[in-house]
Amino acid sequence: MKTDLLLRVASTVVLLGCAVPPPASAAPPQGEAEAPVLRFGDPPALAYSKPFFAGTSYDPSVPAPDAILGQTHGTRLSHHSEVLSCFEALAAASERVTLHPYARTHEGRQLVYAVISSQANQTRMEQIRANLARLADPRGLSDEDAQGIIARTPPVAWMAYSIHGDELSGTDAAIALGYHLAAGTNAQVEELLEKIVVVIDPCMNPDGRERIIGMVEQSAGYTPNLDYASMHRGRWPHGRGNHYLFDLNRDWMVGTQPETRGRWSAVLDFNPQLFVDAHEMGSLDTFLFYPQAEPVHPAFGPRHVEWQRIFAAGAARAFDEHGWSYYTREWADGWAPFYSDSWSSLAGAVGILYEQAGTAGSPLRRASGEILTYREAVHHQAAASLANLRTLAEQRTALLESYLADKRANVAAETPGNDRVFVLRPGGHSGREREFLRMLLGQGVEVFRATAAFSGADAESAVGEAEDEVAFPPGSLVVPARQPQSRMVRAYLEFDTRMSATALQGEREELERKQSSKIYDVTAWSIPHALALDAWWCDAPEVDLERVREVPAAEGALVECAAPVAWVVDGTDDGAVAFAAGAMERGLSVTISDAAFSAAGRSFSRSSLVLRRAENPGELAELRARVLEAAQRSAVQVIEASTGRSPDEGPDLGGGHFGLLARPRIAVLANTPVSSDRYGHLWHHLDTVLGVPFTILDATSFRRPDLRRYNVLILPPGGLDGVLRSAEEGLVAWVRAGGTLVACAESAAALTRERLGLASAVRRRDVLEDLDPYLLAARREREARAVEIDERLVWEGTPAEAAAESDDGEEESDADSGDNAPSEPAEDRDAWMRTFSPFGVNLLAHTDSDAWITAGCAERMPVPFSGSTVLHARSGVAVRLATAEHLRLGGLLWPEARERTAEGAYVVVESKGHGQVILFAAMPAFRGYNHGTARLFSNAVIYGPGLGANPPLDW
Ligand SMILES: [Zn+2]
Repeated sequence: MKTDLLLRVASTVVLLGCAVPPPASAAPPQGEAEAPVLRFGDPPALAYSKPFFAGTSYDPSVPAPDAILGQTHGTRLSHHSEVLSCFEALAAASERVTLHPYARTHEGRQLVYAVISSQANQTRMEQIRANLARLADPRGLSDEDAQGIIARTPPVAWMAYSIHGDELSGTDAAIALGYHLAAGTNAQVEELLEKIVVVIDPCMNPDGRERIIGMVEQSAGYTPNLDYASMHRGRWPHGRGNHYLFDLNRDWMVGTQPETRGRWSAVLDFNPQLFVDAHEMGSLDTFLFYPQAEPVHPAFGPRHVEWQRIFAAGAARAFDEHGWSYYTREWADGWAPFYSDSWSSLAGAVGILYEQAGTAGSPLRRASGEILTYREAVHHQAAASLANLRTLAEQRTALLESYLADKRANVAAETPGNDRVFVLRPGGHSGREREFLRMLLGQGVEVFRATAAFSGADAESAVGEAEDEVAFPPGSLVVPARQPQSRMVRAYLEFDTRMSATALQGEREELERKQSSKIYDVTAWSIPHALALDAWWCDAPEVDLERVREVPAAEGALVECAAPVAWVVDGTDDGAVAFAAGAMERGLSVTISDAAFSAAGRSFSRSSLVLRRAENPGELAELRARVLEAAQRSAVQVIEASTGRSPDEGPDLGGGHFGLLARPRIAVLANTPVSSDRYGHLWHHLDTVLGVPFTILDATSFRRPDLRRYNVLILPPGGLDGVLRSAEEGLVAWVRAGGTLVACAESAAALTRERLGLASAVRRRDVLEDLDPYLLAARREREARAVEIDERLVWEGTPAEAAAESDDGEEESDADSGDNAPSEPAEDRDAWMRTFSPFGVNLLAHTDSDAWITAGCAERMPVPFSGSTVLHARSGVAVRLATAEHLRLGGLLWPEARERTAEGAYVVVESKGHGQVILFAAMPAFRGYNHGTARLFSNAVIYGPGLGANPPLDW
């Protein structure tokens, strides 16, 4: 089996062919007249020569990395193909090593992990994995059997390196560690490998690593540069993200990327007890390892930080022996559940993070004057790794017992919260339901389908409702909290997990005293909020459940009739937008309804699509083939209608309720100063979800853009003020002529700030003295959502009941709520309040069901929100944030931020000449899993050119 795997890996290396090893030496051989070539990495004059693992002897029959790399290992960046070569050589030469491919990146690079243990352990690896799987799901496991397993099973350490592609030293440390364990001949190595199994994932993000190595090598010169800030060390979009610039260390919860999905299954095959995730941080820093900082998510349980302390003691000893600086707990909190180490902790391992000061592969001078070489950075990572492995070997029995106890609690009836279930009520969003199942099933979470209707007691909904009893139909998806992956269920599906009072106090003190925050990432991420589905938590019901084992296939279909006059697609599922895009790409003419209607014996929601035969000339079979192609790529069902006449009071198919769409010709602004990962999220959405081509325009040369070839221009978040100012004239003319300009987050704010005349929406901070008209507009909208007519007042001129509150009185209470501060200039007060701006919270928003951009959205939906930009507009608000009282659905929202953000505009659509400007107050399609707000973005881009703008007409 080992040989088979090796052959597969070896063949992929040949196929890749995209990473050519750099020349081994810069200095030409003496006496030869060849011109010198660059020698990458640490120059010989600054060589760091300490051995990585002092005092070890190595088996000479195992090839050393130095020989494979042609330069002292660790003195330069190893390419991904070289990493594979090193591990293949280890697996070929050492009986201790097997190598396993587990996924392929978007760019086709092979991801691998190496399993390293004693020869005896290798021969019984299947049994070891089966034993650990038994501990991971201890239902029905007797104490006696469990003790037997613990006595004879080595624990597994999963050692993972450089998930951020430009945090480079980890991968070279993985090679050093792999060689040490594969070839080390002294007793210490042999004993270690008797006691534990080590899995090394040496290069978690090869596409990002190759991107940054290309930049670093292409910027290299013959003269070393020790400035840590030089562009020699990389430029936009750097190497942190994968091909689509996604941060893979934020992808573990949802697995939008193939690297993550492959790792889910690989790690779950081993059920490790230790998980190390090696990163790099700022160049002038030292080295950080866990225990982590507060706040720590309650789903990790009490043992989590205790074990991190035990492992820290060993790492600290190793660093003290070398006299290296390090620290713990100063940052890197344990709140969000989507990092590598937090994911592994939810799965039952002890998750540990390393952060080494980054060098980008060549020496730099630190503030103290000391020079840090790349090879020394590699040494730190390798030493921390070995120290943690030794601790695992020493603690193996205690840790396996603790692991089992944790898993037993997950499946015990008496564990608090284990009597609750999460329920998803099925609706028209089959695409999002498939996503939900893909995410959970891929991580080993057990999901069930109710075979009958049932009622759930003590129920809470994703949009903040609480009911004593809620009825659910058959087919509802049920996820019990009580299951082996209980910790994931809670961390991912809870709507509103709250930080401890201590954590809250600490953060508030930091903000008030230093105006800085300790929060490291978003404070809310709930999957049901992100998917904007009809989701609830309730008491475990009495109903038959059947286990869902597979994600239903996403298949498009065409339901034919004898003589079709139209093809109809329901507009609710997100696939409808991709269908419309695909149909237009195939030259089909598509219309969209502004009201619900009936056709072919079925009901269709507002925003359903109709392709009229009359507007799509051609031979029927050929038309059907194109329609079916578009249906299959977007997984929607297309229904043929044999008459355009409505069977009920709804619109006929040939009338004015159906607007003609225009094929979008999309451009997206990229490069500095656009945020590279936000750009990546939008790119991934356009390319993989909508499947539309788009042109990338360079923000660094956007002065006089010729936008005539495009009818949609997307501005991702970024500091675009200057860029927009210089492009003002062309941009305004293009919008007025019929363009659809879509701006997200900071870029939306920039459009309001400049005197571009493009948007009448404003930033809150720019209208502090004149907020009332905006707040009144919000109130009018709110009242219009629940119209109540007092007939007596209409006909008689006097109210029916005791006088309703006067307008003035209400206005006062609305405008002044929460504003009790002593007289302070409004600007100063707003600046103070902005200190408390949220890091990624989930808020409740109301959608305007008459606005075309809200197609497929419920009237109330959760939206992610971040930062201090609050937009207001007096008209064109298609999605508006809720009132202060109902605003927060999840995450940390301080009262100041609640007050500032309440009733702000979330999506504004403004007509301008023949075109339009669409502003998103926060980033839609964030991280590829916020499908609720991604839908608004899809609508803007695909439906916008036809519905919100007046494109030039052919004649
Ligand atoms: Zn990192």
